[in-house]
Amino acid sequence: MSKNQYLYRRRDHYREELDALMAYPVEEFVEAVCDIGFGCDCCTRCCTRAFNDHVFLLEEDAASALEMDPASVLPAPYYEACDQNGTFYVSGYALRARGDGSCIYLGDDGRCRIYDRRFSICRIYPYMLHRETGEDGTYDWRLISGLDEHGTYHNPISREEGRRIAKETIAYETAYLEQEIRFFTALAEYFEENALQHIRRTFDMTMREFEKGTEVRVRVFHQGQFFDHCVSNYDY
Ligand code: SF4
Ligand code: SF4
Repeated sequence: MSKNQYLYRRRDHYREELDALMAYPVEEFVEAVCDIGFGCDCCTRCCTRAFNDHVFLLEEDAASALEMDPASVLPAPYYEACDQNGTFYVSGYALRARGDGSCIYLGDDGRCRIYDRRFSICRIYPYMLHRETGEDGTYDWRLISGLDEHGTYHNPISREEGRRIAKETIAYETAYLEQEIRFFTALAEYFEENALQHIRRTFDMTMREFEKGTEVRVRVFHQGQFFDHCVSNYDY
């Protein structure tokens, strides 16, 4: 049996999620979007860490962010594997935030400074279509992030607009899941070739050091390769 069953299990989990997403009845999603009638009141809270933990970048978004400013990205938090040498691995980049938790592209006037080039997650927010475990422990679909915690509701949304939102959201979720599948497939191959394995105990020990401020090595999956970074908790 392969020593990297954990990586294959993670890959299979994302494959199952992708199958579930493909089977989701799109018209039901369109109906929910129209029924909820979400309206943005431009409060800008979603561009801050207080409201949104981090801005995850799909590969095309990471490429665009790196082109605009190579210092604007860092390894996405919540590293997904750790080898026996204490190196972490993660499926992509996230956008850097300022010390106060606001996005580096949020202007003083409360507007996005790169609005026309903003990233996929910024375009679909607050819509989502993925399964999560709720507070009551049930695993179910979530359609809106922070439902009832921001914005306005029961605004008129045409069927056409609802369909556009649904299509864009599904495209984002599909790209995200495909990125995870590519990551775990490449990581399993890389571990096999280099006699590496994911060790939970090493993960936990190295994470404790990271949380204390120690610099750690993180390899980020981007465009089919792993890129090396050294980061500490202070970078986030
Ligand atoms: S890139 Fe723009 S829209 Fe996206 S989080 Fe930053 S400020 Fe907000
Ligand atoms: S999407 Fe929500 S959190 Fe973001 S600016 Fe609009 S109302 Fe505020």
